[in-house]
Amino acid sequence: ALYKAKSEGRSTYHFFEAGMDAELQQRRSIEAGLRLAMQRNELRLMYQPLLGLAENRVTCVEALLRWDHDERTVSPAEFVPVAEDTGLIVPIGEWVLQEACRMAASWPNDVRIAVNLSPVQFRHKELVDQVKNALKAAGLAPTRLELEITESLLLTDSESTIAALHELRAMGVRISMDDFGTGFSSLSYLSSFPFDKIKIDRSFMRDVTTRADSQAIIKAVIGLGQSLGMLTTAEGVETEEQLALVREHGVSEVQGFLFSPPLQPTALANLLHSNAAKRQAKQKAS
Ligand code: C2E
Ligand code: MG
Ligand code: MG
Repeated sequence: ALYKAKSEGRSTYHFFEAGMDAELQQRRSIEAGLRLAMQRNELRLMYQPLLGLAENRVTCVEALLRWDHDERTVSPAEFVPVAEDTGLIVPIGEWVLQEACRMAASWPNDVRIAVNLSPVQFRHKELVDQVKNALKAAGLAPTRLELEITESLLLTDSESTIAALHELRAMGVRISMDDFGTGFSSLSYLSSFPFDKIKIDRSFMRDVTTRADSQAIIKAVIGLGQSLGMLTTAEGVETEEQLALVREHGVSEVQGFLFSPPLQPTALANLLHSNAAKRQAKQKAS
C-alpha cells in the first residue's frame, strides 16, 4: 500500500509538472507572437451593441479585442493577461483607443463607444494624453467615449489613478465600473469615484431565473445605481426571461447574446445606420 501511495504521489507530481510545462510553453508562445501582432496587423476589434431600454435603441457599443494568430482567433481572456505582464498592453491599448474612436466617429452621434482599460495602462502617465489624442485624431466628442475599468484598478495606486479618472471625467469622458460584483469591496469603490455606469457582472445573470440570491443582488445593484445617479447595464443577457427580469427592476441597458453578439465593424455600422433610418421614417410618419 505504501508503494502504491508513493507511486501515485509520484505520478501526480509528474502530471502536475507536465501541466505546468505546457502552460509555460503556451504562455511563452503567446508572448512571442504578441510582440509581433501589431506590426503584422493581427489585432482587430469586434463591436457589441448595448440596448438602452428607455430609449429602445442602441445607446452604446463596446469594443472587444481579438487576435488572429496561428489560424485561430485568440480570446482576450487568454492574451490580455500576458499583454499586461509584458507591458505590451500599453501600445496595444493605445491602438484600441485610436481604432475604436475612429470607428465611432462614423456612427450616428447618439451612440457612444465603450473601451476597456487595463490597470497597467493607468500606471503610465501617458494614458490621459493617449485618450485626448485618440479623440482628437478621430474628431470624436469626449462625451461619446466611455472607459470601462474594473475594481482591481482601485486596489493599488489609488491616488494617481483617481486623479487620472477625474481628469478624464472633467474632459467629458464617461467612466464605467465593469464586471461589478466580482471583486472584493465593491461598495467602498462606488463611493471612491463618481462612476457614470455600473455594469453588473454576467455571473449574476447566469442563474438569475433559478436562484433567488442572484436576483436579489441584481435588484439591489440596480437600486444602488439609481440612488447614486449611475446608469446600470446588465451583462450577459441571453434569454427573454432574463431581459424581462432586469427590465422589471429598472436596469438602464442590456448587453448580451439575446440582443446581439459582438459584430464585425461593417455589420455593426449597418445595424446602427438602418436603425437610425427606421427611427427617422417613423418620426416623419407620426
Ligand atoms: P468584458 O469587458 O466584461 O466584455 C464582455 C464579454 O462578455 C465579452 O467577452 C463578450 O463577448 C462577452 N459577452 C457578451 N454578451 C454575452 C452573453 O450574452 N453571454 C456570454 N456568455 N458572454 C457574453 P470577450 O470579448 O471574450 O472579452 C473578455 C474580456 O476581455 C472583456 O470582458 C474585457 O475584460 C477584456 N477585453 C476585451 N477587449 C479588451 C481591450 O481592448 N482591452 C482590455 N484591457 N481588455 C479587453
Ligand atoms: Mg467591458
Ligand atoms: Mg464586463
